[in-house]
Amino acid sequence: MSITYSKVRCIVDLEAIRHNYRLMKKDAGNVVPVIKSDAYGHGLEQVARALEDEGAANFAVGYVREAVDLRKAGISGDIISLLGPVDMDDCEAIIEHDIVGFVGHFETLARLAYKADGRPVRISLKFDTGMSRLGFTREELPKLKAFLRGRPNIVPVMASSHLAVADDPASREITAAQAQVFCEIVEDLRASGFAVQASLANSAAIMGHEGCRLDVQRAGISLYGGNPYAGTEWESLGDDLRPAMQVAAPVLHVHTLDKGRGISYGHTFTADRDMTVAVVGAGYADCYSRGLSNTGWVNVGGVRCPIVGRVCMQMTAVDISPAEAAGVQVKTGDDAWLLGGPGDGRISPQDLADWWGTITYEVFCVLGMNRREYPDT
Ligand SMILES: *Cc1c(COP(=O)(O)O)cnc(C)c1O
Repeated sequence: MSITYSKVRCIVDLEAIRHNYRLMKKDAGNVVPVIKSDAYGHGLEQVARALEDEGAANFAVGYVREAVDLRKAGISGDIISLLGPVDMDDCEAIIEHDIVGFVGHFETLARLAYKADGRPVRISLKFDTGMSRLGFTREELPKLKAFLRGRPNIVPVMASSHLAVADDPASREITAAQAQVFCEIVEDLRASGFAVQASLANSAAIMGHEGCRLDVQRAGISLYGGNPYAGTEWESLGDDLRPAMQVAAPVLHVHTLDKGRGISYGHTFTADRDMTVAVVGAGYADCYSRGLSNTGWVNVGGVRCPIVGRVCMQMTAVDISPAEAAGVQVKTGDDAWLLGGPGDGRISPQDLADWWGTITYEVFCVLGMNRREYPDT
């Protein structure tokens, strides 16, 4: 959260997050909540506390800094940094706060060993099995094991890898191949005396790829009610997930727009009939994308109303004729819902992501920059 001066409100239902966590645990046992990037915009501390109530003790974040924040907030279980230490300061913080960092390169390992200077450090070895982003390769295993044998204070407690296409049922063979390579790596490590827990599954794999469920699962988007299988043949696997975030902004003004008049910058919309528009107090400075211009919809009084003209920095105009036709009286100060909201007009995270041309992850992360409220706490 960092936009504190606008009237946009991001309302987070922590019970929905708890519900989603219970669903994931039912499928996959040991599930570590992924609460990186401020819990995908839902609030790092608030989400951690809510899930502690459900029995979660360990958490995963992105940068080491996020892990330190969580430690300082009083979380005493294991905290995993998925990005691991990226500089010397991170190496020191990891040791000081007993954070389990993902380590996937020899330079990082060497830096950590140098900084540790004999002090104990727990790490999660990260392997690249197909994402082609970060991680040791299978070919590097002999060298890796030799390095670790020489530094007994560096203790690999986990081996991990990340799936590239788990959310695409059509690519399930690629996911199966990643799992196969990863399991061989884990067996090799264990046979060599390294007692690692194996962690591979993200939300999509928890929900759809049984062969990827190993010792520790890492659930992110599902906790927030995003369905990784939206738009695919496996979409129904996410039917019971509940979106946790709603976003509202006030109606600033209501007026008529006569047939033939243009509206907003560039007059990219011209009224084809007399209509009533509401000017809503949210724009791209509130992380409501300008790409929604003439494309997105806003829920006004339970009825979906189309955005007309360009989304501005702090304002967006919507044609409220559909709301009026349904008998809804719209006035200054009313809530207009950019996400969620009442009635049949409820806007799902996937709807908004589709109009926006992105995925629910981005919708949550950026809209979560707005002032948040937690009604049930
Ligand atoms: C973000 C992340 C996850 C969670 O993925 P979802 O698709 O949100 O469930 C798991 N593992 C790693 C390494 C990640 O970066």
